Amino acid sequence: MEQLPCPGCGAVNRVPTGRLADRPTCGRCKSPLFTGRALQLDEAGFRLHRDRGTLPLLVDFWAQWCGPCRAMAPAFEAAAAELEPRIRLAKVDIDAAPALAAALGIQSVPTMLLLKGGREVDRVSGALSLPQIRAFAGRAL
Ligand code: ZN
Repeated sequence: MEQLPCPGCGAVNRVPTGRLADRPTCGRCKSPLFTGRALQLDEAGFRLHRDRGTLPLLVDFWAQWCGPCRAMAPAFEAAAAELEPRIRLAKVDIDAAPALAAALGIQSVPTMLLLKGGREVDRVSGALSLPQIRAFAGRAL
């Protein structure tokens, strides 16, 4: 059984692990729990998914003024489409969540954090290609 915070309303849904690929929807708002896209999270959303979700979480901390971040964005979206529903992918704009970025010790962007069970498994800074993102995310599986 997995716990999945809804991307739409934040309700925490319980889904049998074997049903993750069956396009589960939220019991409260009926939104799809997976969209094939990276979620855009603010600080509260990040904490919700980190603390209440049971899937591994790969989070790209980025900024709009960061060229390498924009260059990596298509690869990260492609990774989301490929890695869901085994891993949840999300993005946090550090300028919209500066306290969170400071609390996590994000020194530069892009920085990707890989979390599992609410704990950081690994982090990497600098833009990665799709194969590199795939290999990094695989450390949580
Ligand atoms: Zn919902």
